Amino acid sequence: MKRIFSGVKPTGHLTLGNYLGAVRRWADVDQHRADALFCIVDLHALTVDHDPGRVRRLSRQAATLLLASGLDPRLCTVFVQSHVDEHARLSYLLECVATDGEMRRMIQYKEKAARERERGGSVRLSLLTYPVLMAADILAYGTDEVPVGDDQTQHVELTRDLAVRFNQRYGHTFAVPRATRPEVAARVMNLQEPTSKMGKSDDVGPGVVYLLDEPDVMRKKIMRAVTDSGQDVVHDPEGRPGVSNLLEILAACEGTDPETLSGAYQSYGALKKDTAEAVVELLRPLRERHKQLCADPSYVEGVLRDGAAKAREMARPRVDSAYRAIGL
Ligand code: ADP
Repeated sequence: MKRIFSGVKPTGHLTLGNYLGAVRRWADVDQHRADALFCIVDLHALTVDHDPGRVRRLSRQAATLLLASGLDPRLCTVFVQSHVDEHARLSYLLECVATDGEMRRMIQYKEKAARERERGGSVRLSLLTYPVLMAADILAYGTDEVPVGDDQTQHVELTRDLAVRFNQRYGHTFAVPRATRPEVAARVMNLQEPTSKMGKSDDVGPGVVYLLDEPDVMRKKIMRAVTDSGQDVVHDPEGRPGVSNLLEILAACEGTDPETLSGAYQSYGALKKDTAEAVVELLRPLRERHKQLCADPSYVEGVLRDGAAKAREMARPRVDSAYRAIGL
């Protein structure tokens, strides 16, 4: 059976981008077709300025939302990264295989480091080494596939390079994984700035739809989305990023493709209205399940405890053999 691994960072509230780009597929498809692990990658939340209490709260909230999205602990493993020591243990070995040059070439590092410096802050070393920890997250489980949005493709490529290099130098230890992406909405854009991605760590703003926004707030954000000059509804992400983003979102909600949809609309207003309703409807069951789960926090705690125990058992033998292979 194929092994699948993917994760979500507790740096903010989960967004429509996280859901359409990753989480929905995990629940609807991946957990049914493979031996799948889904991880709240809390160590990754420490790479930028963070508040300890908030990270802990957001980790629990992310876990609750993953379960509300339909992840079923009888079918897959849901756990928190810091509960399983193997991730950090393996990360150090992979740091001894990676080079500083390849880390500095990572697009997310360059963007986030530039932002930190602009704010006058310093850049944590862990921001540079973050992709190595992500490689460890993936490789520790013998992962074959990593279902992610487009923003993570470069990191999965690096993971592949590190697996191949480790295997060549020290003997076959790791499966070489590949990224899988959704056909539509692999990169949901910010509604107010449709040239940048909708990110959960962005300031709480009108351009980001959060999974726990009230339906009326979602509607308002979508109705106020920045559209492009011109009136015709065409799917052209380069030339018309605003309207193309709405078409992608609506297509993802309706299980169709943005090109086909574009022919059905004569105005931006109608497109926004249908998109808003489709998003509200798509997320309605999730909101309801989330409410029920919040009433039973011990259930969520239990899922995470069992998940960590299972994950530890899966990761340990491979990480132990990596230690032996490298000479320890
Ligand atoms: P972020 O902190 O940027 O929201 P994470 O690193 O927690 O994202 O990502 C969790 C998953 O959601 C990843 O698979 C990522 O590729 C996906 N994802 C994040 N943002 C988007 C987006 N705007 N569009 C599509 N997928 C996204």
